[in-house]
Amino acid sequence: MDDFSPDTLTRRMIREQIVSRGMADPRVLTALSRVPRHVFLPHLTWEEAYADKAVPSLDGQTVSQPYIVALMSGLLDVHPGHRVLEIGTGLGYQTAILVELGGQVVTVESNPRLAHCALATLTQLGCADRVTIVTGDGTLGYAALSPYDRILVTAAAPHVPTVLKQQLADEGLIVIPEGPRDVQQLRTYQRRGDAWTRRDGISCRFVPLIGGDGWRM
Ligand code: SAH
Repeated sequence: MDDFSPDTLTRRMIREQIVSRGMADPRVLTALSRVPRHVFLPHLTWEEAYADKAVPSLDGQTVSQPYIVALMSGLLDVHPGHRVLEIGTGLGYQTAILVELGGQVVTVESNPRLAHCALATLTQLGCADRVTIVTGDGTLGYAALSPYDRILVTAAAPHVPTVLKQQLADEGLIVIPEGPRDVQQLRTYQRRGDAWTRRDGISCRFVPLIGGDGWRM
């Protein structure tokens, strides 16, 4: 009989969706193996939760495809002790991966229902002491706990919000899907003093970053 337990589905997800596409960062693969994705997605079957696609969360929002979570986590290069700002918590799956990589994470979600669910799941999994969830407009960042070593934007932005650049520490990285509303590029920005370098990544499609320095609805 086939074994469709979450452990088996997690191993299969890593092998067939992530390693097969060339992701080899052992720390990211280990983090993915330790975070039970289905716990963040109680409204889906286990098979749906581990499928090779973005899946619905609430109110027309989505939870990113596992491969995209792996790719962004690798680009962000989080090390233990890093202060990480995530914009767009969703149901908190990516947040848990950032915690597993050793980050002390501040995550901002504009939808209070999603922020509430994410907090409940992250608490259930024992991550709560490493995460601060803020309900609000992430295009404004979160100044109170800045500067951040890493900033991850998980919604589609027309440009890097100005305030996020100000809240990034020297030598820090920002990973962001940037571009027009229908298709973006996953870009990595690095700050060295006042100089910025940009690396372009794959094309992708995220739900829009709606806010004061993002899209207007
Ligand atoms: N990081 C999550 C969710 C990505 S979906 C994951 O890994 O699955 C993007 C999320 O960004 C949605 O939940 C949406 O509500 C949120 N969002 C959109 N605009 C926002 C803004 N200005 N500030 C904070 N969150 C925002």
